[in-house]
Amino acid sequence: VLNQSLFELSGKVNVSFEFFPPNSAEMETTLWNSIKRLEVLSPKFVSVTYGAANSTRERTHRIISKIQAETSLTPVPHLTCVGASKEELIHIAQDYWRSGIRHIVALRGDLPKEEQDSNSPEMYAVDLVKLLKSVADFEISVAAYPEVHPEAPNAQFDLINLKKKVDAGASRAISQFFFDTETYLRYRDRCLASGIEVEIVPGILPVTNFSQLLKFSSMTNVNVPGWMHRLYQGLDNDPMTRNLIAANVAIEQVKVLAKEGVRDFHFYTLNRSDLTYAICHSLGVRENKPIYQTDQEEPVAEEAIA
Ligand code: FAD
Repeated sequence: VLNQSLFELSGKVNVSFEFFPPNSAEMETTLWNSIKRLEVLSPKFVSVTYGAANSTRERTHRIISKIQAETSLTPVPHLTCVGASKEELIHIAQDYWRSGIRHIVALRGDLPKEEQDSNSPEMYAVDLVKLLKSVADFEISVAAYPEVHPEAPNAQFDLINLKKKVDAGASRAISQFFFDTETYLRYRDRCLASGIEVEIVPGILPVTNFSQLLKFSSMTNVNVPGWMHRLYQGLDNDPMTRNLIAANVAIEQVKVLAKEGVRDFHFYTLNRSDLTYAICHSLGVRENKPIYQTDQEEPVAEEAIA
């Protein structure tokens, strides 16, 4: 039934892809190959993350400009406010607006280790949303946390924080990745019940490196369910099988989400295209080729005819 209903989604699903600025020539090649491979899927936008260190900031700008100049894609820079002055942020926003960028993912960013237990930050993401809106009428996406942001005192506080970001002008929230789909669905319901009416776009992370995920998920407060531990067990030295498992897990996840009415998906690509391409394919997101309709006969495999 799930597979059947997916065919009816053709043309109705929006996807966006997230990349990060590469830090070597080899990774640069991988990134551009991935961008080219995914471009044909006509994503709504592609976003590029923003790091705390100055060098990474420059790299974000460079990748955004290159996507703008060399592809048909809509590039969307991430921007963080932690450790930056208001003047600096205004300057960056003005530059983006002048160069034709109309959409920004506005974030606070992670606090440097030495500041984590000391003073509260000068700016939160909501302040950045307000600052950007004061510069120009940007479209703004913000972050949402179905399993609660690690620094939030409780879930309700975090939800109110999201509402503040939306009330300040954000028109979309992109979620932290998650594996417990029920948690996301309950969070989406709670957002609606709290008067947050923007799309809470699920962030989909195809997991190819399970041990790295375990390190990262504890920092981000994301639950890795027992069934995932069992699935990846014994595959530490078997990247090919891990890839197949990763695609399967993510395809199952998007199928359930699509059945629950989700029509926008954001992919944490980690600068790779193969898994994201396959997952999009399963959602009917394809290169200008309509998929066959449910009332048509399934095409017969050529080997069967021969
Ligand atoms: P905020 O919305 O400001 O919330 C941060 C925390 O502060 C929450 O716990 C919130 O409840 C709490 N809070 C809010 N207001 C107050 C207040 N007044 N007093 C006390 N507590 C308060 N990081 C990067 O460095 N670069 C990126 O490009 C990047 N991209 C991301 C993309 C997505 C889709 C997501 C989900 C995360 C991304 N991150 C990125 C990570 C993000 O920067 C961190 O999760 C960061 O710790 C919080 O950012 P935020 O925008 O959610 O912050």
